[in-house]
Amino acid sequence: MKNLTHINTKLLGLIGHPIKQSYSPFIHNAAFEMKKMDYLYLPFDVTKSNLKGAIRGMSILGVKGFNVTIPHKENILDMLDNISEEASIVGAVNTVVNDHGELNGYNTDVHGVTGTLMQYKKDITGSVVSVVGAGGAARAVIYSLIRNFKPEKIFLVNRTEQKAESLKKYFSEKIKFDSFNTKELFPPDLVETFRSSKLIINATSVGMFPDSDDSITELGESFTKDQIVFDLVYNPTRTKLLKLAEKQGAETVDGLNMLIYQAAKSFELWTGEEMPVEQVRNSIKYYIEN
Ligand code: NAP
Repeated sequence: MKNLTHINTKLLGLIGHPIKQSYSPFIHNAAFEMKKMDYLYLPFDVTKSNLKGAIRGMSILGVKGFNVTIPHKENILDMLDNISEEASIVGAVNTVVNDHGELNGYNTDVHGVTGTLMQYKKDITGSVVSVVGAGGAARAVIYSLIRNFKPEKIFLVNRTEQKAESLKKYFSEKIKFDSFNTKELFPPDLVETFRSSKLIINATSVGMFPDSDDSITELGESFTKDQIVFDLVYNPTRTKLLKLAEKQGAETVDGLNMLIYQAAKSFELWTGEEMPVEQVRNSIKYYIEN
């Protein structure tokens, strides 16, 4: 890891609270090291009451850009100069570019989803998809699906069905996609919904460390060998859900891909350069698993 900075080193960062669990500093600094680029990426723990001040500070100090994580992804929208179309529709910003004092907000989670699923585009277009979750990550998933993959129908499954209903209404109005069904996350009833889906996406935090024994379903019969199952959780990389789906012969995709693809898009927005995605993926996988 880099241990020397000098007068020309460009600073990037991450604001959130808490931020100790974030892998973004590792990912970006590893990529800068690999590409011999003179940048440094630092985490800044910023509470809600300090958000406005922190953003002003970033701008005044000439920080080139920063990532935004929980709990600021939504609140920051009103504090920026420009918001990309996708960040505006998703309703969340995770990347800010400081263009000579003008702060521009983007949502690169959408690119994370798109980059991860692109290899399955033919399977997804015209098919039924189940999305579990109704939070910020689910919104990025739904936006990417509708804009880039054109599924025939999306089942929105969530523990609190009311939130899935609100999401359905929101996207129906915003991007005129009406082919939604909502369901409560109640496993026995879900088997048929899942079995009828070509793609199942877990966009909840269920299964994430330290609760790695949890899964959105325990029922192996929810999956078939013709399906793709994508879990946004990236720690652990092989979640209980993915192991269950894999046992039934389904194709499984872990959250690490999305993490890297969203980071790669932020990297490109800040530097104009491509991130060495495969190399970084190997590095972060080793870092998480050891
Ligand atoms: P969020 O806005 O807080 O939403 C959390 C979602 O999970 C809600 O739908 C919530 O249901 C559901 N949930 C939480 N605990 C649950 C439980 N015990 N049982 C059933 N449902 C539960 O969080 P988010 O920002 O959308 O993030 C969701 C997950 O995606 C996190 O694990 C995050 O790390 C991951 N993520 C990964 C990437 C990546 O690059 N791989 C990027 C972004 C996010 P209710 O509505 O009922 O509360």
